[in-house]
Amino acid sequence: MSNNLPMLTIVVPCYNEELVLEKTTQELTRVLDKLVVKNKISSKSMIFYVDDGSKDSTWEIIEKLTDINSYVQGLKLSRNFGHQGALIAGLETARDFSDCVISIDADLQDDVDAIEMFIDKFNEGYEIVYGVRDKRDTDTFFKRNTALFYYKLMGKLGVNLVPNHADYRLLSKRALDEFVKYQEENIFIRGIIPLLGFKSAKVYYDRKERFAGESKYPLKKMLAFAFDGITSFSIAPVRFVTFLGFVLVFVGIVIAIYTLCAKIFSYTISGWTSLMLSVWLVGGVQLLAIGIIGEYIGKIFKETKRRPRYTIEKNTYKER
Ligand code: UDP
Ligand code: MG
Repeated sequence: MSNNLPMLTIVVPCYNEELVLEKTTQELTRVLDKLVVKNKISSKSMIFYVDDGSKDSTWEIIEKLTDINSYVQGLKLSRNFGHQGALIAGLETARDFSDCVISIDADLQDDVDAIEMFIDKFNEGYEIVYGVRDKRDTDTFFKRNTALFYYKLMGKLGVNLVPNHADYRLLSKRALDEFVKYQEENIFIRGIIPLLGFKSAKVYYDRKERFAGESKYPLKKMLAFAFDGITSFSIAPVRFVTFLGFVLVFVGIVIAIYTLCAKIFSYTISGWTSLMLSVWLVGGVQLLAIGIIGEYIGKIFKETKRRPRYTIEKNTYKER
């Protein structure tokens, strides 16, 4: 890295956050001031609000803040694209002028004082720093346990997630450059980041209650998000159908032998044998066929993502 101090951009997606923006700006400004004084970041560092099509006065507040606070800049999306969309918009835009980017929610649930630890890790050479919650006691019993179950399930399906990490993280410019190569439409950011590789670190913090306003993630959105995570990463459900198909065909064969023997060696009601054979064998074959078609669709699904096939970390051959 050069001797210049890193230019940090804090990307904050905001949807109807008029109640929290002033306080959030105060807190982030305090942290940035401290880091600038300590010579850890450039004084050109930035708080970058992304207004995700808010219906309240969020954008007016952001505009006002840009006038009175030299750190603050804003991006306004044309409509509500959802948290992940807003985050990507912010990250991709910030990539052009930042050495590193930290994404954080607007509601001060994530401890802003952890930002200094993020920067320390970055200055030590880490490209990705994950913010991991120490405790989840501010979440409801339900949210905590469903989350735990979800991480387990995702792990079983082969999706590598960092437990208790949401979208509070630092990405270096380099990591961002690789991240934007993932052009898939249904993007599940926290599943992609571990795929990038690079040197990464974790920083632990306490997650607080939302400071004001209410959660923009009701149960319905949470379930949709969780389901998205599975279906945009894994074809395990399809594979399960194929497996079931194999099992049924096997059972069908056993039943075929049994019914044929029964027909030959003992008295059976007419029609029973053919019915049993069709139900089991045909059923099994059908399920297997669906599974096989599913496998091909799974392949298409992977192809259409056009994910990068590799990421280079170092190359000793330097341009001459
Ligand atoms: N958010 C957004 N677009 C949306 C929903 C949420 O940009 O459609 C932002 C929101 O303003 C906040 C962050 O995403 O900064 C996380 O949302 P929230 O705090 O409501 O979620 P929770 O912490 O309850 O999971
Ligand atoms: Mg929140």
